[in-house]
Amino acid sequence: MDLFFLGTGAGMPAKLRNVTSIALKLLEERGAVWLFDAGEATQHQILHTTIKPRRIEKIFITHLHGDHIYGLPGLLSSRSFQGGETEVTVYGPKGIKEYIQVSLSLSQTYLKYPLTVVEISEGIIFEDEQFTVEVRRLEHGIPSYGYRIVERDRPGTLLADKLKEAGVQPGPIFRKIKNGESVTLEDGRVIEPDKFLGPSQKGRIVTILGDTRYCENSQWLAQDADFLVHEATFAKGEEQLAFDYFHSTTRQAAEIAKQADCKRLCLTHISSRYDRQAWLELVGEAREVFPETDIAEDFKEFNIPSK
Ligand SMILES: [Zn+2]
Ligand SMILES: [Zn+2]
Repeated sequence: MDLFFLGTGAGMPAKLRNVTSIALKLLEERGAVWLFDAGEATQHQILHTTIKPRRIEKIFITHLHGDHIYGLPGLLSSRSFQGGETEVTVYGPKGIKEYIQVSLSLSQTYLKYPLTVVEISEGIIFEDEQFTVEVRRLEHGIPSYGYRIVERDRPGTLLADKLKEAGVQPGPIFRKIKNGESVTLEDGRVIEPDKFLGPSQKGRIVTILGDTRYCENSQWLAQDADFLVHEATFAKGEEQLAFDYFHSTTRQAAEIAKQADCKRLCLTHISSRYDRQAWLELVGEAREVFPETDIAEDFKEFNIPSK
């Protein structure tokens, strides 16, 4: 599981930072990439990476400000020409359906793959045997959401030698036990899986927030996260400015990470008023509150290891 930053700037594209898009690479887990936001030129950014558009399975939009969605119709359209045949689901606030429909129909774009668009409200928006994705409203000028991605705990490794000692031969029974099912043998003995499995592997939690003021729901979404992505449009000391424009400062992002007991924090959505030199200061002031902080840069990747 890796988080790859395709765009990390606020508001407008800048030379050093394109507008927001983040790829959660789940290649080992499900051979897929989940995208969070698609600012203008997201597909151009992807061209410089190993990410295959046909691998994009889900796109989660945090809010409908242009710097988070202007790249979406182009990306969806190009995917048809890049071998994309599998279904894509786009999740986003109310209005995302109309935006996509109008963009595709006016430009007479026909996709070669099925597209589903889901307009979200607070709660669990996706769930399968691997992941749960839950959303909460944040505080921004227009409805903006944060996503909490929770991986399910995985059953431990099969203790094959122990099973053989108990007289069970490898085969379908092994598979059932590995999946956590109890099995009744021909001689009537019942094999309980927990006695023949190592400790279960804890699932990871990744929280990716849309643009927001410092707010309570951010903390809720980030609780115990292994990795938190929080916007930091402004530097410490600019709290009034951040409040007025519905954004956060570096320090506020760090406060959320600390209060929520996160393992790591990454700052993104950095205003173009800050140059390379200033980035060091931004990350430094966040580290005073939460030492495990990094600052995102376009094309920077972070691994989120298994526990
Ligand atoms: Zn923004
Ligand atoms: Zn915004």
